[in-house]
Amino acid sequence: MLSLEGVDVAYDGVPAVVGASLSVEDGHVLAVLGPSGSGKSTLLRAVAGLEPTAAGRIRWDGADLAGVPTHKRGFALMFQDGQLFGHLTVARNVGYALRLRRDPATATRVRELLALVGLEGYGDRLPATLSGGERQRVALARALAVRPRLLLLDEPLSALDVGLRERLAGDLRDILRESGTTALMVTHDQEEAFAVADRLAVMRAGRVVQEGDIAEVWRAPADPETALFLGYARVQSGAAAGVLLRAAGLPAAAAVAVRRSALVVAADGPLSGTVVSARVTPEQIRLVVDVDGIGELDAVARLDTHPAAGDRVAVAVDSSRLASTPGRG
Ligand code: ADP
Ligand code: MG
Repeated sequence: MLSLEGVDVAYDGVPAVVGASLSVEDGHVLAVLGPSGSGKSTLLRAVAGLEPTAAGRIRWDGADLAGVPTHKRGFALMFQDGQLFGHLTVARNVGYALRLRRDPATATRVRELLALVGLEGYGDRLPATLSGGERQRVALARALAVRPRLLLLDEPLSALDVGLRERLAGDLRDILRESGTTALMVTHDQEEAFAVADRLAVMRAGRVVQEGDIAEVWRAPADPETALFLGYARVQSGAAAGVLLRAAGLPAAAAVAVRRSALVVAADGPLSGTVVSARVTPEQIRLVVDVDGIGELDAVARLDTHPAAGDRVAVAVDSSRLASTPGRG
């Protein structure tokens, strides 16, 4: 089990990761989700031993990793652009680390790994002849070759186009499960995090602001900003039929969540109410919400694609009415 406790990382005294605590239990996949520049790659590099920590502890099964060099941590890394050796065949790329160890089972293991990532028969190809998705599969097979005790993934699918990314996200989840791999993945892409991981840590401005089961974080975001960040994502499984509303024009910390009853989280605290009516067309969802102490508000979401049952959709409410509520503020 990997655990981080109060980890700080700074570049020339400028903090990039601040007091980060999280843990990845064996067999689990934790996604660290946050906007660009929030410190995700820095955190991953610190875990890999590629970046020194200024404070805090990084432990594996309780043992402090301070001073343990990267190659002795037993972790494998995979990046957005795979970084395959262009002059080596697929099989040689995948078997690279095994051959360095003079592992006599290299050929068998390479065949196994290519089957695992769905690339049987690709062994003799050169990376330049592969699609972006195939190259990432090879990179994944190569990272798994040495049976790392922890796989570190930095935006592994971000360089791929949307359709392929969705398909490969599902495959990545299956491959990690099937191989029982413990993994820490960082990404700015909510869909990717929800599709691949079973646990989620939300990062913002260098801090881990929430960590938990994906469903748990989704159900109860730690703060309105996290809710807003997650509100742009669709969740596919298990979400209560509900809608996450965004109050356009309100201070950044305002959000509204509607189930059968409505909860309005405004900057100065929660309000409650009920959904009076909902009208859904292919283009938009329009709700009338009776918010206690304010009265009925229109809430509208424009739809780019048709939402499925259980999806959550960002909805804008008439913020002038909320902002001018008497007795609040
Ligand atoms: P993310 O992966 O979430 O996009 P990073 O960890 O790459 O974020 O960056 C976090 C912060 O640290 C950013 O402000 C970034 O500019 C800074 N940073 C990242 N790498 C370096 C570096 N090598 N030198 C100086 N600053 C860096
Ligand atoms: Mg990054």
